[in-house]
This record gives sequence, C-alpha cells and structure tokens, in this order.
Amino acid sequence: MEDCLFCKIVKGEIPSNKVYEDEDILAFYDINPATPIHILVIPKKHIATHNDLTDEDSELMAKMHRVINQIAEEKGFKEKGYRLIMNCGEDSGQEVKHLHFHILAGKKMGPKIIG
Ligand code: 5GP
Ligand code: ZN
Repeated sequence: MEDCLFCKIVKGEIPSNKVYEDEDILAFYDINPATPIHILVIPKKHIATHNDLTDEDSELMAKMHRVINQIAEEKGFKEKGYRLIMNCGEDSGQEVKHLHFHILAGKKMGPKIIG
C-alpha cells in the first residue's frame, strides 16, 4: 500500500521507536501517547481494518496476542495490567487504515472506555 502510513513505517521510510520486530509483526511507541506507555502493534502485511481479516490471518492474529503478552512481560506492566484497543472504521475514529492494537499502560485507567 503506497500511501499507507504504517506500511511506510514497516518499510523504514518513516522512522519509529521500535519495541518489537519479527518477520510478521512490528510494535512501536505511539507518537502521541494517551497513557505513560502507549504501544502500537501491527502486522507487517497490510490489513486495513478488523473487518478485512480472513481465515488465513488466524495464525497471524494469534501471534499478535502472543507478542503483546511478551511485550507486557518485557516492559514490566504484565502484572499491573493494561488496556488493549483496536479501532475499526468510521464510528470508532480509526485514523490509520492499517490494522493495529493500542496497548495502553502505565497508569490506573477509569472503567469507561467509551468517549
Ligand atoms: P487510530 O485512531 O487509527 O486507532 O490510531 C492511530 C494512532 O497512530 C494514533 O494513536 C496516533 O497517535 C498514531 N500515529 C499517527 N501517526 C503516527 C506516526 O507517524 N508515528 C507513530 N509512532 N504513531 C503515529
Ligand atoms: Zn498499510
């Protein structure tokens, strides 16, 4: 995807502060953190939204969750906890149309996630 911001980050055309990388997945710090720790986890493959997932992405998505657990352990917020968010489509306010999880951590968050 030529004009996709996160594909450009995957290709290294736009710099990012990397947290984790393997052949399928990249994780990096959000440029505008909502919490003291705010990490984005993306597949290297371009998938626009959660609506676009297919059966062939099953293992990739399972791996994303394993990577998130590994990051939580390595960054030291596994026990205290974190919030995992994925926006999908217009009503959610998804700005970057390349599927990504937000990991929010490092502070006590309120019970409400709907704003
Ligand atoms: P969305 O609203 O699509 O769920 O979230 C997109 C996220 O990407 C936002 O939290 C925003 O701060 C982050 N973001 C946008 N542009 C960049 C960038 O160039 N670098 C990084 N690291 N994060 C970005
Ligand atoms: Zn993309």
